[in-house]
Amino acid sequence: MKKNILLSLIILVILNACGTAAFTGRKQLLVYSDESVAALSDQSYTEFMQTAVISDDAMDTEMVRSVGNRMVVALTEYLSGIGRPDYLSGLEWEFKLVDDPAVNAFCLPNGKIVLFEGLLAFADNPNHLAIVIGHEMAHAVARHGNERMSQQALLQSAGQIATQVFSQTKYGQNSQTVELFAKTFAFGTNVGVVLPFSRKHEYEADRIGLYIMALAGYDIYQTPLFWEKMMGDKKSSSFDFLSTHPADTKRIAAISESLDEAAKYYRDPEYTIPAGN
Ligand SMILES: [Zn+2]
Repeated sequence: MKKNILLSLIILVILNACGTAAFTGRKQLLVYSDESVAALSDQSYTEFMQTAVISDDAMDTEMVRSVGNRMVVALTEYLSGIGRPDYLSGLEWEFKLVDDPAVNAFCLPNGKIVLFEGLLAFADNPNHLAIVIGHEMAHAVARHGNERMSQQALLQSAGQIATQVFSQTKYGQNSQTVELFAKTFAFGTNVGVVLPFSRKHEYEADRIGLYIMALAGYDIYQTPLFWEKMMGDKKSSSFDFLSTHPADTKRIAAISESLDEAAKYYRDPEYTIPAGN
């Protein structure tokens, strides 16, 4: 009898915890509220920024900020236009460039995106930056962090899930949730290193990243070559970004196959790359 009640509770949680990913409409299991995931991300981000050194390169910092803003404006206008501003819930976008030679970038589920100066040796113009930023924004807007935490929660024992989900406070920060977030993002012990998403999430982030780029008017057709160049670099095996984003030929082929579909998101059919952009 007790078992049945527990089972019904779990089924209830799962039925109430379904969402769909922005743009792709893929069904997702999301057991956490946007607020709780955002609150945990805020904590991690604050901790990270306390030890990070902000870049003193004014031009690069401005380039990161302006590309980020352009992408955010385009995405916000689009989602509002289709009546889905809810996909932006819990997201407060921020773009920081840090003084660190690592070839790395990450995005937390609250929309805080950090780029490391080492990455700018490759992402050396606004269009290249838009490729990386679009991919990172896509993870956040498609709620991949919440989904990954939800999947992990489901893997834990049934009793634990029920306790975890039903004991959530407004910000959901009971110790199990905090621990799960730390495990999912590896932030507790290894600051600045976000664990790799699944291949499914990576492929989806690539696709959605292209859509956001197109909405913002960037040249999506440069994307496969950008990844090929990065992958082809002799030192690339030491790139943190490539350890979480393996730019293998399959992934690049999938990006190439998505280009024509992504091009439908250009708002100006007469699109040309603005000079100097
Ligand atoms: Zn990714």
